[in-house]
Amino acid sequence: MNMLNNTHDAACVEGVALTAIAAQFGTPCYVYSRAALTAAYASYQTALEGRNARICYAVKANSNLAILNVFARLGAGFDIVSGGELARVIAAGGDPAKVVFSGVGKSRAEMRQALQAGIHCFNVESASELELLNTVAGEMGRRAPIALRVNPNVDPKTHPYISTGLKTSKFGVAFATARELYRRAHALPNLEIRGIACHIGSQLLDPQPAADAAGRVLELVDSLAAEGIALQHIDLGGGMGIRYRAETVLPTADYLAPMLARLAGRKEVLFFEPGRSLVGNAGLLLTQVEVLKHGEEKNFAVVDAAMNDLARPALYDAWHDMVKVGAGGTAPAGTAALMGTAPIQARRYEIVGPICESGDFLGHDRELALAEGDLLAILSAGAYGMAMSSNYNTRPRAAEVMVDGDQMHLIRRREEVAQLFALESVLP
Ligand SMILES: *Cc1c(COP(=O)(O)O)cnc(C)c1O
Repeated sequence: MNMLNNTHDAACVEGVALTAIAAQFGTPCYVYSRAALTAAYASYQTALEGRNARICYAVKANSNLAILNVFARLGAGFDIVSGGELARVIAAGGDPAKVVFSGVGKSRAEMRQALQAGIHCFNVESASELELLNTVAGEMGRRAPIALRVNPNVDPKTHPYISTGLKTSKFGVAFATARELYRRAHALPNLEIRGIACHIGSQLLDPQPAADAAGRVLELVDSLAAEGIALQHIDLGGGMGIRYRAETVLPTADYLAPMLARLAGRKEVLFFEPGRSLVGNAGLLLTQVEVLKHGEEKNFAVVDAAMNDLARPALYDAWHDMVKVGAGGTAPAGTAALMGTAPIQARRYEIVGPICESGDFLGHDRELALAEGDLLAILSAGAYGMAMSSNYNTRPRAAEVMVDGDQMHLIRRREEVAQLFALESVLP
């Protein structure tokens, strides 16, 4: 799915030309489409029609308040991994009672904050966390609602950095010990067992591993029921992949079908925690070509976005499609004059940022006809883009804009340099 459409000679997101966004807000700039966010959410709603199911958007994929607010208005719950994300959900109008809290290292303060807010469930990932949560809840005179995140040990066949459900993973509790931990949780006075959770990885394309994981989880649910520990919900995590390049990506309903077939007739509420598949293809990173360097071995296009803005290529060697979306009006005078009016020839470019690291690339070997000042759209950048950005090289973070029909809304101002060191001080 591509959020760009090329109506009236310009590359547009919904009814707004990217050239207009660059002119108004500058580059680099993340651009999101409300319609694409809504369509992705609707694909889950449709796939889950007739089921007692809840969609909890995984906030870490993109935590901008406007994005959270779009999902909150659609009735979504949220999957959070920190107290900071909980604060964002609440600030964006999300309902804490629809929040599940994942993560291997929740602090006491985060536990207190989440109990105070009245979240739906803690997805507990270790024996120690179970004990600590019981203590913290007791100190507050409350009972903490919990699910255990179990590790079904299925191989999701994705990138090792985003595979989370193997025995060797730091996430979740081993299947073999889960039953014992449920008994322990059952015995602890300040815990209330609500459900079970699993999440096996990210960018999953084959529906089989998730279906197998669901099958394993069900066995556990049934054996717990047999000893009197009844669960109200089964949380199947997120992880559905998106199309970045030429991957074959199933429609949401088809991806979920094998899993839902195994869950047919179950009375438990089904929870899903999609992140990437809700926002990934609803966002792009708009950048301008600063400098072209044509060499003997390689051609470089230095753009004004870098690995601090979009880390996925440097981190996972990830591919993002790139499209030229407008000729530059602001090309540096020197080279523009050098190039004259001769037609621009397509070349194979390394698309790199200005950061002082060889790993600072956004794409290798891209055939593009470029001139300095041109605008490039780096596609499929809505998930784990802005959310993983940094200020490396003292680069202010990009602006973020959301398009809604023919309107563009600035949803995060570009950072200013002075803000980047405002919290720092020198020795007396
Ligand atoms: C990251 C994460 C998700 C979302 O994964 P996506 O691949 O973005 O769908 C869901 N649940 C948990 C526990 C996670 O850590």
